[in-house]
Amino acid sequence: MKSAKLLLSFCFFAAGYSVGAQKIDEKNIQSHIKILSADEMQGRFTGSDGERMALEYIQKQFKGLKLQPLGVNNSYSQAFPFKSGVHGTGTEGTAHNAIAYLDNGADKTIIIGAHYDHLGLGENGSSLDANPKGKIHNGADDNASGVAGVLELARYFSKNKVKENNNFLFICFSGEEMGLYGSKYFTENPTLDFSKVNYMINMDMIGRLNPTTKAITISGSGTSPVWENTIKGITNTDLVIKTDSSGIGPSDHSSFYLKNIPALHFFTGSHSDYHKPTDDWDKINYAGEKEVLELIISVIEKLDAEPKLAFLTTKNKSMGSARSFKVTMGVMPSYTSDVPGLLVDGATEGKPAHKAGIQTGDVITKIGDYEIKDIQTYMDALGKFEKGQTVPVKVMRKNEELTLSVTF
Ligand SMILES: [Zn+2]
Repeated sequence: MKSAKLLLSFCFFAAGYSVGAQKIDEKNIQSHIKILSADEMQGRFTGSDGERMALEYIQKQFKGLKLQPLGVNNSYSQAFPFKSGVHGTGTEGTAHNAIAYLDNGADKTIIIGAHYDHLGLGENGSSLDANPKGKIHNGADDNASGVAGVLELARYFSKNKVKENNNFLFICFSGEEMGLYGSKYFTENPTLDFSKVNYMINMDMIGRLNPTTKAITISGSGTSPVWENTIKGITNTDLVIKTDSSGIGPSDHSSFYLKNIPALHFFTGSHSDYHKPTDDWDKINYAGEKEVLELIISVIEKLDAEPKLAFLTTKNKSMGSARSFKVTMGVMPSYTSDVPGLLVDGATEGKPAHKAGIQTGDVITKIGDYEIKDIQTYMDALGKFEKGQTVPVKVMRKNEELTLSVTF
């Protein structure tokens, strides 16, 4: 727990940007992280007052940059319901994504996102502190660092004199720590034409670059055929890049991947303060985060003249190869469930699962002949079907096993 001793009236920060408009500015990164991870924000627990305060801060920044509001009703925010805990034991309520748009007049849009919620006072059980209750979990790296990245990239691309051949949607999610609620809701209820989305860039924990190894992991490099070569072709960085092909990982890019959108996740690695009250602003490598943001800009610029990226599904790392699939169920999978099968967090109206009667809380255990053990086996199974095909789907609802008929 560390207070950055800041004034609560942080409004003037919006106007306080330094003038070097087209460069990533370490000072901006630091001021965003200090504010978002200050004790006043109470660890930004989903649905809490501290989280609302963070939301307000992010919206003010978007407004200061004159970005278009792309939430609901001409605002920067999109409300969504959340309910933690498989058996309805946890908290529930409403939280918000913050969404802004930079219109470059292009026919495709890049989504740049990061979650802004964190563990609050350690109340939901995912703290790694021995005695977490009541301690403020400031989450400077997880994930004030990613939000600072969104805000600084938003400033960079909106002040850039030469306009990209892409529009940008900047989004800060809530509900991530409880199970990707915000990003799942957004991908089910997008506020832009989803067919125009080119790809998604997720930043979750980009503040602790090791100054010696300079190692950064980019996950999702198998979600489009262009990623690997594009990343390999970047020479203006001394970061040591490791790629991981999988589109499924423990953060918001997974929600986009599951909607057939190529997605990358940037991550500077875990550390001993991870999910502890000691994840504070004074431990952030600000120069390192600047390098990460410059790397992201390089990726975006390198692909800017390319048409909309092709999507690929990814397999387990050990399996190597990739393919694309033709069908969708229209369910929001839970990532926090430890029951075997695929726990459904929501079924989109009018999509095959919903039509077949699959409900929130159901656990899918079999699709056709394929046993579903987890999200990976679920993805593998979906790859086996064609549009128009009708298959039996086994689900567990409470203690009852049902067989429903799904038409893709
Ligand atoms: Zn995180």
